[in-house]
Amino acid sequence: MALEVYKFGGASVKDALAVKNVGEIIHSSGIENLLVVVSATGKTTNALQQVVKDYFGKENDPFVTLNEIKKSHLEMCLSLFPDNKEALEDVLDSFVEIEWMLEEDSDDSFDYFYDQVVSVGEIVSSKILEHFLKTLGLKSFWLDVRDVILTDNTFREAKVDWKETEDRISIKCKDLFEANQIVVTQGFIGSSSENFTTTLGREGSDFSAAIFAYCLSAKALTIWKDVPGVLTADPRLFENASKLDRLSYREAIEMTYYGAKVIHPKTIKPVQNKSIALHVKSFVEPDKPGTLIDEHTTESYPPIVVFEHNQSLLRIATKDFSFVAEDHLSQIFDLIARFRVKVKMMKNTAVSFILSVDHDETKVEALMTELQQFFNVSLETGLELLTIRHYNEDTIKSLTSSRVILFEERLPNTIQMVVKPIATLKLKD
Ligand code: ADP
Ligand code: ASP
Ligand code: MG
Repeated sequence: MALEVYKFGGASVKDALAVKNVGEIIHSSGIENLLVVVSATGKTTNALQQVVKDYFGKENDPFVTLNEIKKSHLEMCLSLFPDNKEALEDVLDSFVEIEWMLEEDSDDSFDYFYDQVVSVGEIVSSKILEHFLKTLGLKSFWLDVRDVILTDNTFREAKVDWKETEDRISIKCKDLFEANQIVVTQGFIGSSSENFTTTLGREGSDFSAAIFAYCLSAKALTIWKDVPGVLTADPRLFENASKLDRLSYREAIEMTYYGAKVIHPKTIKPVQNKSIALHVKSFVEPDKPGTLIDEHTTESYPPIVVFEHNQSLLRIATKDFSFVAEDHLSQIFDLIARFRVKVKMMKNTAVSFILSVDHDETKVEALMTELQQFFNVSLETGLELLTIRHYNEDTIKSLTSSRVILFEERLPNTIQMVVKPIATLKLKD
């Protein structure tokens, strides 16, 4: 069975016209068995996040934003399948459960509530796409991903139970592909063993697609984006960024781990483990080849630049100026793991330990409070982590001329720096 997986992100299904384009890409693919993973439309996840915040904040009515979300989806349905009342009702019914939740007071945790509400974005987008594929005459089926991706109950950052998920996906999809050419399902979400909806972390739909590709031993996974492929830098920051035709899995893991937003970092490993070809292609120019990520190795990459914004530097020193010893480090790492703070760079000196971490305010503040009981701790926010793979001195110079380097590390292929943009520096009197 020649099976492939396609993943379409929010930008590719942002409105009815965009869904038509996706329909055309799927229709003309000619793939015998195609599993399609889709994200919520446009910025719907952000809007649903606002609904949850409004519900807990009690100042704004959460139904204001929810009704806007419903309206935009209703308009898409009316444009894509105007005569199919059943399909329209099917899409709108998906909102009912969360409307009930929003009407009641609740003592559920924020994270649990978030997952139940925010996941509706993917449920409705996948239903809209699947109904539309039927209007194109394709044999398609809507699969509720919560029947197959099993996770633990770490809401908002759920961990996949790979064994159970692999069993469920292979059994379920084998049956579905006997009767259908296309199976459409949701990215980003899963289900706990108690049947509660969970989410895999923001931007997690690429990862969902990789889970399916792995579990189905797919021939290829194609991630459709609004860019021509993986570029040497984020085109929003560098207009002269150029497309990389081919990348090794290793290179892609390094780039995405340090913040290249084009693919979710967790996507690469599952496909690498089964040597599945990973294509990143443009949904605007679907006939162009994009970037192929596979086992290919080359020594001749151009400099690749990755900026991770929103970094903070934590400087941790012993209170009595004694050396930072192994027992201190083990205590620090225990706390980092407990508060799930993500460390991007670190360095120890005789009496201090320096860490660059992703600045998730709640998590970092909780970590600081705990650390301060044992250490002197300072925190500097608003920094950037600059990673240059295959660097040369010219590239370093051009990128650091308007920045202050707070600390750096050089390896043969990679230079990393925590930097502060000059504009944010306060001039001394
Ligand atoms: P999705 O629609 O799947 O959610 P995203 O918007 O998350 O897609 O990711 C695509 C965006 O990633 C592009 O629009 C681009 O601005 C950004 N990006 C960041 N780094 C790179 C890079 N190195 N190559 C290509 N795109 C990049
Ligand atoms: N819709 C989710 C998000 O915006 C997942 C994804 O798009 O990958 O984070
Ligand atoms: Mg995205």
